[in-house]
Amino acid sequence: MENCIFCKIIRGEIPSKKVFEDERLLVIEDITPQAPLHLLLLPKMHIVNSLDMTDRDDDLIGYVFRKAGQIAREKGYAESGFRIVQNNGAGAGQSVFHIHFHLLAGRGFSWPPG
Ligand code: 5GP
Ligand code: ZN
Repeated sequence: MENCIFCKIIRGEIPSKKVFEDERLLVIEDITPQAPLHLLLLPKMHIVNSLDMTDRDDDLIGYVFRKAGQIAREKGYAESGFRIVQNNGAGAGQSVFHIHFHLLAGRGFSWPPG
């Protein structure tokens, strides 16, 4: 998408701190980290949020979660725990309308979430 900030990051038009990349997925550091580890897993396909998904995306989202676990383990957070967050709509805190998954670790997390 022309004016989508995450599509621009994926195309390399906006710099980012890359953690992992393959043909389906880009993983970068969040620019405003909310935890000692705060990564964004960005599917390269422009999907707005879970309301915009079709059965075409089912494998992709499974892959995102498996990759998030793998990265959390590699970074040393398998034991202490980590959180994967995905906001849908402005009312739930979504500010970039290209689907993304926050991987947060390295501090305590309260429940219910804020
Ligand atoms: P949301 O609020 O939509 O769930 O999450 C958007 C996230 O994108 C926020 O945590 C915000 O800090 C991050 N973000 C916004 N713009 C940029 C950017 O240009 N680069 C990076 N690395 N993260 C960004
Ligand atoms: Zn996009």
